[in-house]
Amino acid sequence: MKKVKIFDTTLRDGEQSPGCSMSKEDKIRIAKQLDEMGVDVIEAGFAASNQKDFEAIKEIAKVVKRATVVSLARCNKKDIDKAYESVRDAVHPKIHVFIATSDIHMYYKLRMDREEVIEKVRECVTYAKGKCDEIEFSLEDATRSNPDFACRVIDTAIECGANTINIPDTVGYITNEEFKNFIVYLKCNSRLDEVELSVHCHNDLGLATANSLMAVMCGANQVECTVNGIGERAGNAAMEEIVAAIKTRSDIFDAYTNIDTRKIKMISNMVIEATGSMVQNNKAVVGENAFKHESGIHQAGVISERQTYELMDPSEYGIEEDSIVIGIHSGKAAIVDKIQKMGMNPFDYEIDEIVKDIKSYCESSKSVPDEKFFEIVSANKKYRIALNKAM
Ligand SMILES: [Zn+2]
Repeated sequence: MKKVKIFDTTLRDGEQSPGCSMSKEDKIRIAKQLDEMGVDVIEAGFAASNQKDFEAIKEIAKVVKRATVVSLARCNKKDIDKAYESVRDAVHPKIHVFIATSDIHMYYKLRMDREEVIEKVRECVTYAKGKCDEIEFSLEDATRSNPDFACRVIDTAIECGANTINIPDTVGYITNEEFKNFIVYLKCNSRLDEVELSVHCHNDLGLATANSLMAVMCGANQVECTVNGIGERAGNAAMEEIVAAIKTRSDIFDAYTNIDTRKIKMISNMVIEATGSMVQNNKAVVGENAFKHESGIHQAGVISERQTYELMDPSEYGIEEDSIVIGIHSGKAAIVDKIQKMGMNPFDYEIDEIVKDIKSYCESSKSVPDEKFFEIVSANKKYRIALNKAM
């Protein structure tokens, strides 16, 4: 099985999304946790963007022990100097240089033609390599770039010392099959196979995770992602989804990541707390309902054998709470299971009455909190209550 590196850009791309800015202290806490849970590369920020970012990266570089620490830099010497200055104290420093390669970006944003961009890549990657051994080079808006021009840019960056080439789907434009064809084309027509291949997918069409995983199938060694999928606009590929997919379907991907999945729920909560940006209830892996069941058929299935309706074991993702929610759709099996878990022991002939009482409570309320559940079961004197500790 091949290893897929996880490049986390929660602190850079994630932080750039509206309303997601984080304090320096929160960034340091998150970086430490990312390091502990096995993230391979931490993009700690964009050093040249502001002094606050620069200082946060510098601090993170000092506390991260195992992961590579990266700062982003545009293709100019000032940015590269700042980036190197910010990560130089890291155990494993890396500079991430990028320039746009699509016609629309080159014409409207850079005001440069293709030859000028090639020259810029040559000049800046060479300059960055002179400062730092580890260089990642990104072709911004790669998926909307002319494939042959992209190959020329890739070869130039590799010739000048880039160790990693990143292919971003900057605006979340490409579809799954197209991405596969694009990557295969680049691999066949450039020196891409000689270096590490990274991808960075955005979620504008809801395809970020699927596209990143397709790239893994096509030989990508690194996936760039963020915790909870935060990031510009509709966000980046979500780290928890990439990691869970590779782990759950390792038979298909023939790959593994270094991530301790039991820390996933914790890092998700840390990022929610630091940014104030919630995840939706039905969010894969870390959403409130990702491992919860309310309907009677599903509950009876899960109680009998978890894998009937749970693809993954929630405890492997750091989720310990009871997955069974007692609500209007719950059936007798779930209610009996809950009664037993709470240490109560009614006679069989009393169960139907309890189920009726609980269902009637649910008609006016979405679900039954534990205290209410206990109250309903124990309220009626005819029920024999035997708490576990009394038995
Ligand atoms: Zn991005």
